[in-house]
Amino acid sequence: MTHATTPASHSAITNPLLHTQGLPPFSQIRPEHVEAALDETLAKSRKELEQLLEADMVPDFENTILPLEDLHERLHRVWSPVSHLQMVANSPELREVYNRCLPKLSRYSTEISQDERLYQLYKTVAEQNSPSNTEDDQRTQLLQHALRDFHLAGVDLPKDKKARFKQVMEDLSGLHAKFEQNVLDSMSAWEHHEISAPRVSGIPNAVLEVAAANAVEQGKDGWVLRLDQPTYVAVLTYADDDRLRQDFYEAWVTRASEQGPVGGAHDNTHVMEDIMALRHEAANLVGFRNYAEYALASRMAGDINEVTEFLLHLAAVAKPAAERELAELQAWVGRPLSPWDIGYYSEKLRLERFSISDEELRPYFPLPRVMDGLFSVMEKLYGIRAREQHDIDRWQNDVHYYALINDADEEIGGFFMDMYARPNKRPGAWMDECILRRRTNGEIQLPVAHLVCNLTKPTGNKPAQLSHDEIVTLFHEFGHTLHHLLTRVDYPSVSGINGVPWDAVELPSQFMENFAWDPDVVRGMSQHVDTGKPLPEELLNQLEASRVFQSGLQMVRQVEFSLFDWRIHSEYDPAKGPRFREILAQVRDRVAVIKPPSFSRFANSFSHIFGGGYAAGYYSYKWAEVLAADAFSAFEERGLFDREIADRFRQNILEIGGTRDIGEAFRMFRGRAPRIEPLLAQAGINTLPPDNS
Ligand SMILES: [Zn+2]
Repeated sequence: MTHATTPASHSAITNPLLHTQGLPPFSQIRPEHVEAALDETLAKSRKELEQLLEADMVPDFENTILPLEDLHERLHRVWSPVSHLQMVANSPELREVYNRCLPKLSRYSTEISQDERLYQLYKTVAEQNSPSNTEDDQRTQLLQHALRDFHLAGVDLPKDKKARFKQVMEDLSGLHAKFEQNVLDSMSAWEHHEISAPRVSGIPNAVLEVAAANAVEQGKDGWVLRLDQPTYVAVLTYADDDRLRQDFYEAWVTRASEQGPVGGAHDNTHVMEDIMALRHEAANLVGFRNYAEYALASRMAGDINEVTEFLLHLAAVAKPAAERELAELQAWVGRPLSPWDIGYYSEKLRLERFSISDEELRPYFPLPRVMDGLFSVMEKLYGIRAREQHDIDRWQNDVHYYALINDADEEIGGFFMDMYARPNKRPGAWMDECILRRRTNGEIQLPVAHLVCNLTKPTGNKPAQLSHDEIVTLFHEFGHTLHHLLTRVDYPSVSGINGVPWDAVELPSQFMENFAWDPDVVRGMSQHVDTGKPLPEELLNQLEASRVFQSGLQMVRQVEFSLFDWRIHSEYDPAKGPRFREILAQVRDRVAVIKPPSFSRFANSFSHIFGGGYAAGYYSYKWAEVLAADAFSAFEERGLFDREIADRFRQNILEIGGTRDIGEAFRMFRGRAPRIEPLLAQAGINTLPPDNS
């Protein structure tokens, strides 16, 4: 390998990934640069880390923590463009080298998080550090975060327990992958072949075209409908044939279980039991009573009861609304409905009540006009403008770059905007960090973000036209973007979205979604592509009214998932095992309005919590939504674009990164603790307690 002997100064010239000044030179990055750049950076980091650990000096923030922040930031600089390109401009070569590099990265991060000497350094610095001003406060928080994360990674355990903790974590990641694999395998093990046209009536053409192609591939007539998510949703929502919907429902809710059409073949039951036992053991090893407590150590929610009570309260107020919505739906259909009927008839009722379709709305929302609307919200709230810059290196021609300019005409950050779907781009929408804010030699390195969507690229000379859902998504991701860009924290590990408790990280994004529903904002960003007219008031009213359609049913469903996740983790008892079915039955008794049949095994494919990610954290969706709705209600009380309240939101939420207690910061912004009522009002749910109503 030549790169191992190439001097750093030389390879920095030839390897664009090692060019760590300014914006990444995206167009020059090739798959062959990736591994060489990563190897060189990791080797350099390990060497410098070793020097730091062996240095004969009294460790302090300047001589120890800042260099460590620099190491972290340099690695981010090298890897961020790679992981970004892997998502937006993938190729088999890039994917291959990316996958080869991932274990190297995870080995490095495990080394760091389990290094006792490093932990001791942070401890020593933390002991001398006594905050006397805001700057010191940020440093204190950084040190506290680092010490907490070391502890949660088992660094301070005795040798045998430490080894066991490491083994448990490795086993868990294998089991999470196994869980996901079983779900996928059980989905590909089932399909439905149909030759009768009346039986596929109602299913959208786009889905049928795929199904017809599947049939041709297998040398069959008609349609082969597979059990993937889009097909499942389309069948349950649109298929006129009751029996077809029922077949799909049974196959879906029994995935990876001992029940249903492929029952037993890819059963996750034992995988789930092992996952629960190991999570519980890991939590015990580092001193927590259960995995829910372990998870709470880095969350905003205070204790187990607080989350349980929060969910039960939501259930109590939402359940009467959900019951009413279900009764209404059944009265409209004229008979009691089975679980596989609900989605289908709900869609019919929705169409009858609100005669607006995506296709009718789209022409009113051309992308340039929507962007103007979004930027004008930002300018009115924070006095910040977006100024497009054309001379920027990009990975794709239709990507735009904007600098953010404050009211003193200074540049404060920037973002790339990649809006259109492409074959080599991951689906969905997201914000990613391109460059982290930090102070280096007295200078501020400005943060840069990636704002990514997957709109259909327009053909001909008309701009892309957005559905209202897509507009809400754009505002959501722009909320994350502002959180990253408006941070005032100079230390990468706690700036922007870093170090923010996970149950609060969706606050800035869901907060921004609310503006996409405000009638004035919607009116302002609508302009029909042909007529130039704004959205007619009639359509605007229908759009607004449709926001709360069946919101009670949606809410109890989310609470059911959250409470199940929360209780299996917080009530786990090694002597009794996970008691999945028992707990689920209790949760459903208390919360659910639609009772699934006894063969349902939804937990066996609940990837959010058994595939990793959201374990003991599904409640975060609702938790952050409460904060976002309550924050927005402060703006509604004061006037949507009141600068004083916007400044307060910016200073207490958007600027602080992970350097302040978020509950405390929220109280500073709101003048009180968060309340649940604004979310309920927004969802059109009566806020009186059920026994008073
Ligand atoms: Zn989000």
